[in-house]
Order: sequence, then structure tokens, then C-alpha cells
Amino acid sequence: MNATVAHIRQTLRACYAPQEAAWLSRIICCDIFGQSVTDYYAGKDMTLSSNEEQELKDILSRLLKFEPIQYIQGECSFLGRKFLVSSGVLIPRPETEELVEIILKELPPQAQVLDIGTGSGCIAITLSKELPQTQVTAWDISEDALHIAQANNQALKASVRFERQDVLTYRPSREACYDAIVSNPPYVTASEKKDMERNVLDWEPATALFVPDNDPLRFYRHIAQLAQILLKAKGKLYFEINQAFGPDTVALLDGMGYKDAVILKDLSGNDRFVIAEK
Ligand code: GLN
Repeated sequence: MNATVAHIRQTLRACYAPQEAAWLSRIICCDIFGQSVTDYYAGKDMTLSSNEEQELKDILSRLLKFEPIQYIQGECSFLGRKFLVSSGVLIPRPETEELVEIILKELPPQAQVLDIGTGSGCIAITLSKELPQTQVTAWDISEDALHIAQANNQALKASVRFERQDVLTYRPSREACYDAIVSNPPYVTASEKKDMERNVLDWEPATALFVPDNDPLRFYRHIAQLAQILLKAKGKLYFEINQAFGPDTVALLDGMGYKDAVILKDLSGNDRFVIAEK
């Protein structure tokens, strides 16, 4: 192991498990300071300039405050594309990549899609890039998030239209026009906070994560109500969900008259998505 890696791991040991410290040290050396993966694993030493030494110090002190490495890097990969991220948006999760892969297989040609609670824009922008004939509109309540999503839209040369909307108060004024409405809304209940890590709790936006214990489906209910107006006949809802609420979400959609509501599992085997047809 080279001296820099030893120093990184030793420093991070105060807050991170050994495997996590090893994972972070590879990201720092290879992704941030540009060491080749081969040299890294061969234990070759890195020579850092004094600016880089300072940068490393800053990175380590941010990590010791549990700031997620993706915010420190300012970017995160999502289905092979780099998205800018900062603490105004949730860091895209691998489950959400799975959701997009499901949608990509099902969308009709030249679909109109609405993404509610877009955050970094990762869902909307990926759909727009992969299916250029698709027209994607994306909403968020947060100006900060819309700013980042717009920057991603430009950087990735996508053509998503962004709007600031609060889904809890939005009154539809447009006709049924969407083939699909997609959402990864806040779904973590307040009582689940006690099991969460500091990197999420202290750094990721609470408005993108949490729902009250007494109304965990509030976003799904509001979106499904809106979708009754905004979805075309046979249009589809695609939700990412809290694994604890699959059957409840299906019951909600059944009760509202949606057809064929189904739960799909993520790669970890947890109930993670609910799809239904109008
Ligand atoms: N999957 C995220 C997490 O585990 C939550 C995303 C959300 O609330 N939509 O932190």
C-alpha cells in the first residue's frame, strides 16, 4: 500500500468501516487525483503537488463530517452518464436506475412523459437521452433542484422541460396528455430516521426524503389523483416506493380505479416499484 493510501485509510478509520475507507481511498486516488487503477492496486506511490496535498486535506476533513463523496466530487454516475449533484438534490440511487430501465422497455414511441420530483433530473434526462423522440417534462418544488437539473440538461444536451410545481397543491389546467407519469417521491417515514446513516441525514435534502408517519403515501395519493386527469387512456404510472408499503400502494391505486397495479422487486429483492395502468 502506498503512503498516501495508508494515510487516507488511517485518517478515515475514525468514522468509517475498513471496507468503506478502502472504497473511498480508491475513489480519491483514481477518480479525483487520476491515478490509474492498475497503479493503485499495485501499491505505487503518488506524488501530490502542494495544491493537491491541500485538496486531499479538504476532502478528508469533509469526509470526516460525513459529507457524501458524491457531493465532494460534485457528480454521480447514473446509467452511464455523469450528473452534477450537490446537497440540494438527492444522490441518484441504483434502484432508480432499475426503475428507468423498466420504463425504457415499456414506453410507446414518441411518448409524452412527466417526472414528478425530478431532483438532479436523472430520470427525466436519461429517458430523454435514450429515447430522443420522447418529450419529457419534469417538476420539482425546489428551486435549488431545478437549477441543478437544468445544468444537467444542458451539460448532457438533453431536451427536458422543467417546471416548478408543488404536487401537493397543483390543480391541473392541462388536458390528459401524458403516456407515463413517473415519480420517485419522498417515501422514508420519520420513524425510519433512527436507522439511517449520518451521510444521508446530515447532508441530503430532507424534503426529498421524508414523509410523516401518519401519511406515508401522501405523494402517491396526490400523484395518482393528478394522473387521473393528466394521463391518457391506458397511460401508466411508474413509482419507486418504500419497501414497507408495496401492498398499501397497490391497494391505494386499486381503490382509485387503476388497472393491473403490480409490485416489482429491486436487485436486492425488496419491493421497490409499483406500476399501474389508467
Ligand atoms: N432510496 C432513498 C434512500 O434510501 C429514498 C428515496 C426517496 O425517499 N425517494 O434514502
